[in-house]
Amino acid sequence: MNHKTIGVVAATAAGRRAAERLAAAWPDRVRSYGGASELRQAFEDCDAVVAFLAVGATVRSLAPVLGHKSTDAAVVCLDEALRHAVAVLGGHHGGNDLAEQVSAVLGCTPVITTASDASGAQALDGYGTDLGFRIENPEMLAPVGAKLLSGAPVAVAGADRWPVPPLDLRDGEPQARISVTDAAGAEGLVYRPPSLVVGVGASRGVTAEEVLNAVDRALATAGLSPNSVARLASVDAKADEAGIVEAARRRGWDVVFHPAAALAGIDVPNPSDVVRAEVGTPSVAEAAARYDGPNRPLAELIVPKIKSRSAGAQAPMATAAVARLAPRGRLALIGLGPGARDLLPPRAVAELRRASVVIGLDQYLDQIRDLLRPGTEIRATGLGSEEARAKDAVETARSGRAVALIGSGDAGVYAMASPALDTFADLDDIDVVGVPGITASLAASNVLGAPLGHDHAVISLSDLHTPWPVIERRVTAAAEGDFVTVFYNPRSKGRHWQLGRALAILGRHRPPGTPVGCVRDASRPGERSWISTLSDFNPADVDMYTVVLVGSSQTRVAAGRMVTPRGYTWSAGS
Ligand code: SAH
Repeated sequence: MNHKTIGVVAATAAGRRAAERLAAAWPDRVRSYGGASELRQAFEDCDAVVAFLAVGATVRSLAPVLGHKSTDAAVVCLDEALRHAVAVLGGHHGGNDLAEQVSAVLGCTPVITTASDASGAQALDGYGTDLGFRIENPEMLAPVGAKLLSGAPVAVAGADRWPVPPLDLRDGEPQARISVTDAAGAEGLVYRPPSLVVGVGASRGVTAEEVLNAVDRALATAGLSPNSVARLASVDAKADEAGIVEAARRRGWDVVFHPAAALAGIDVPNPSDVVRAEVGTPSVAEAAARYDGPNRPLAELIVPKIKSRSAGAQAPMATAAVARLAPRGRLALIGLGPGARDLLPPRAVAELRRASVVIGLDQYLDQIRDLLRPGTEIRATGLGSEEARAKDAVETARSGRAVALIGSGDAGVYAMASPALDTFADLDDIDVVGVPGITASLAASNVLGAPLGHDHAVISLSDLHTPWPVIERRVTAAAEGDFVTVFYNPRSKGRHWQLGRALAILGRHRPPGTPVGCVRDASRPGERSWISTLSDFNPADVDMYTVVLVGSSQTRVAAGRMVTPRGYTWSAGS
């Protein structure tokens, strides 16, 4: 969560210096305040406050003006020595995130004490917020949250259709319930997902009351909660129909108007020629309820159109129909980098902690198991069909869940992203998020020096999926182009001759003294690197955990480091 305005309160010289660093890091968001006397002002003006003050002094000063945690500014306190950023108030309303962000800028340690975050579990009051979930009965948060945290069995219904993070659940006779549903009358702590679209049709001059009468009756017919309405929808000819616009405004719903042409082809149970003649589509309410944009799957119609009941003998002026949107699952394609934890970007960590299902090879899962939220479903697979893994990930995301498909390096480089995305037809029914990872060539080049300082080609020597003649043609092209050449998958037990052949091709085009750098297990325990030459190189030193970088004709070794010049001369002083 990012706060729009952050009031920074500093009383001492050290505090003011740190405040300046925050202002430099977030120039658009930070407002500076003087000493403790201005703390209350900052608290009232801003979405969040960072105070370089003792926790005690802060609490004493703010106590009389505290309201509710959902509306108060979040407050983070830092000690004079900048060792700790303590999330004091509004932890689940951005305070915990802010403590982390401040710590990242100032190099201190965030101190988080809200129970669910401290245990790594998902907090119930932020559950599904980013998906638009509304909590119908917030008074249930505390009792259900307490059960969950104490390890008592809690039953959750309906969550597996939504891309929400996992909850840490125990088996046994449930002592509390959580429901994620658009059905009225649900049990326990109830989350309302924005799953329903109410299509409305109306005659000119309809009142908001009459529109809402039709909408409410349509919802009631199928026992649906108005709190799950994502939007009202109609045809663009009705965009200026004040009754529709006002009905949406009163309930706080969005309202959208679709072109008649987009609605005309949609399959509905009650098309009408009269309506077609009037607005250019045979259905307004039913079709607008189902339509979710170009290339999006149609929502499932659950309540065919019904008419309003108007007061008196007047003919009904409004119709309403309800459709349910299929939840859009989330597929995160995550490269874990070469291996070291500190080469795994924060964005990848955030996606891993957002996923409720993580799919990947055992060896990669072992690298990040500790980062996953308690309750995450882990699908470890041995080496085996990449295609099956990719398909499983896509299908699970299609069922509505948040899935992370993981691999080493970058997910898009000789890895799982391509087979996963290849399986989509033309229907855009899940959200796909790619997180860049540090690929082996970059991890290795930084160990070796600067071998990639000029144009380079990256080639996989695995001929399992690519015919060898194709690989050979590419190696030849790289050789002729004098590209620095990086070989992935250079050698394995079953593939022992390919690397020798590739180096022989390069040797025909560049001098025998051309440097060849190898890194085995870059950034992992036992990392090893060595630099040889084309003529001395022994392919048998290489295995499948190694990446091989062959210099261009310009690459040299300087002080034990492999360097490829930029291709032009740096001229000092001119
Ligand atoms: N997606 C990965 C590449 C997968 S192909 C990435 O972007 O890095 C597997 C090949 O990558 C291995 O055979 C090896 O050549 C190379 N590789 C991956 N990680 C490596 C590491 N830490 N050190 C050296 N080579 C590595």
